[in-house]
Amino acid sequence: MKTLNSILTLDQLRYVEDVSPAEMSRRLIAGISNGLVVVACSEMDGVDSKFPDDPELPFYIWQNLGACVSDSIGLETVVEDKGITDVVVFGHTHCGLIEAGLDTRNRNQFPESLYSQLCSRTEATRHAALERFGEKFDREVDISATKDFVIRQSACLLTMDTVLRRAESGLLRVHTWILNSENSEVETFNPAKRVFETIWS
Ligand SMILES: [Zn+2]
Repeated sequence: MKTLNSILTLDQLRYVEDVSPAEMSRRLIAGISNGLVVVACSEMDGVDSKFPDDPELPFYIWQNLGACVSDSIGLETVVEDKGITDVVVFGHTHCGLIEAGLDTRNRNQFPESLYSQLCSRTEATRHAALERFGEKFDREVDISATKDFVIRQSACLLTMDTVLRRAESGLLRVHTWILNSENSEVETFNPAKRVFETIWS
């Protein structure tokens, strides 16, 4: 989607870094990362298994439908109080929120009030998908929409006062990931190339 190139401002792009789960884990263990917050979708199992199993490490996770930053209550407080240096926004393909919001065939599966809530969270991504793909919803649209959505969540994260202030001071980086549900690979957003890539190390 063309929006991948324009959702994040140039300033925001400076605060995004493509780091793999393995590298993030190394940084946590080595103390290079002072604290990690992950915002992931509640449909994703085993998110914490991608990181070292050590309760002493400064690792905090929020899971809600779609990995919505605005639904992660208390995130800013933890970022401030714990001196968090890394925040990962972690979405996935075949996400119920994206499918509910973009696949109009799902419309009758939800009560109207829930449906409008789901649609409000995916509205910008829905418009971007409509512009590029029209009304269809298939695997290609799903993958593009997932990428679009997690980048929008990263942009949203960088509008939070605490997060932005720390990012501007060079104290915090944002990492934008998607889990491909078909092959279980994690793709990370490369801010220089503005594409998602799989990093193996
Ligand atoms: Zn999901």
